[in-house]
Amino acid sequence: MSIAQHLEEVRQRIAQAAKTASRDAADVTLLAVSKTFPADDVRAAFECGQRAFGENYVQEGIAKIAALSDVRAQIEWHFIGPLQSNKTKVVAEQFDWVHSIDRLKIAERLSAQRPEGSRALNVCIQVNVSGEDSKSGVSPDEAAALAHAVAALPGLRLRGLMAIPEPAESLDEQRVPHARLRELMRALIADGLPLDTLSMGMSADLEAAVLEGATMVRIGTAIFGKRTYTH
Ligand SMILES: *Cc1c(COP(=O)(O)O)cnc(C)c1O
Repeated sequence: MSIAQHLEEVRQRIAQAAKTASRDAADVTLLAVSKTFPADDVRAAFECGQRAFGENYVQEGIAKIAALSDVRAQIEWHFIGPLQSNKTKVVAEQFDWVHSIDRLKIAERLSAQRPEGSRALNVCIQVNVSGEDSKSGVSPDEAAALAHAVAALPGLRLRGLMAIPEPAESLDEQRVPHARLRELMRALIADGLPLDTLSMGMSADLEAAVLEGATMVRIGTAIFGKRTYTH
């Protein structure tokens, strides 16, 4: 199947899940995760109307932003992978969003390095909702303190929370960590933070995420196919 057909299928999945949840599908942004796939595939998706793309690796992302510079103003580029402090500058300069903030130091660097005159960089705090040792993200207990500190940085605009839950088989099991992230965001909003983004849901758990209130789903495999990792 082509990227066009895959994209259509994913849009149908989002529409169906939104309908089940009595939500408006327009409130769920599809982020196409293009990591490991060539710029030509990003362009193919762009030509099918896709406008938001997610990348995990700084150099690879920068190369694709350059390859699609002719349509830069029409694309939103999201950095969604782990970010080291020596790579923050290019990310602050070139991306529109960062989903993977889990340390204040990284947020401070991004804020300071955001070029004068550009809009604030949209960011999400990554929360480890499954409690796995191996995954990045702050613990749910630490999220509020980090969120308030990040919200105060002038070069950033804190939009919400992101999570990569541990894989689970059933829809009911998949819903648990997504519900946890939704509750955490609700508490932060009640605490005065103007958040509007719940970045959760990937190819395997998109439906569970939409049922629990995801406003942005990050879909790679179901659009571009299986990845072969070289990183
Ligand atoms: C790779 C990746 C995705 C996409 O995962 P798929 O299962 O291929 O849809 C989403 N979010 C993050 C943070 C990723 O690294």
